[in-house]
Amino acid sequence: MTDKANDQARHKERMQQQKEKVDKRIAAATDDKGLLLVITGNGKGKSTSGFGTVARAVGHGLSAKVVQYVKGTWACGERDLLEKLGVEFHVMGTGFTWETQDKEKDIKAAQTAWQASKKWLTDPSVELVLLDEITYMLTYKYIDIDDVIETLENRPSNQHVIVTGRACHRRVIELADTVSEVRPVKHAFDNGIKAQKGIDW
Ligand code: ATP
Ligand code: MG
Repeated sequence: MTDKANDQARHKERMQQQKEKVDKRIAAATDDKGLLLVITGNGKGKSTSGFGTVARAVGHGLSAKVVQYVKGTWACGERDLLEKLGVEFHVMGTGFTWETQDKEKDIKAAQTAWQASKKWLTDPSVELVLLDEITYMLTYKYIDIDDVIETLENRPSNQHVIVTGRACHRRVIELADTVSEVRPVKHAFDNGIKAQKGIDW
């Protein structure tokens, strides 16, 4: 056998072994379950990942809802698209602390958004709920962690939930099925580039 043929044969054997391993794991994963996913960390891509999953679910005909806990006054490309496809949104409808500088107003808005979330988190016809930026509401204690955990635990068994935001509460991470942390390596903003339409919002 030539060196090249040898290489090819070894590569094929390694790939075959890899495929067997992956096939075994796929065959062993047989359970269906509504998942709790957390996308946290300081890097860019948490909300876009959450919205990407909403688009994926809607593409399969699933019923999805979105609650946006921050930046209610900002434009959001995903909202404009997904609302056209019948995805209902609750937007907190206020700027946030550094803009409003009105803590009482923020707390009220957060609690109203949480009540809207709860309505969907108890409705078995809703198959996916995105709780975008809810982590900050827990950090600031604007909504009650016990209530959030209890609601997530008791939600309909087929319902998927995605939580996004930095510094996710430890108890939400413990409860979650899948947790991803986005790590910043570089961000254009640090080089004086402003937020770009279609990329950052
Ligand atoms: P995206 O909505 O782009 O997925 P994200 O949800 O991960 O971002 P957020 O903390 O919600 O991040 O911030 C939203 C905005 O802040 C976006 O415009 C995003 O590009 C920007 N941003 C995110 N991470 C960073 C960072 N590490 N440095 C500077 N700007 C950031
Ligand atoms: Mg975000």
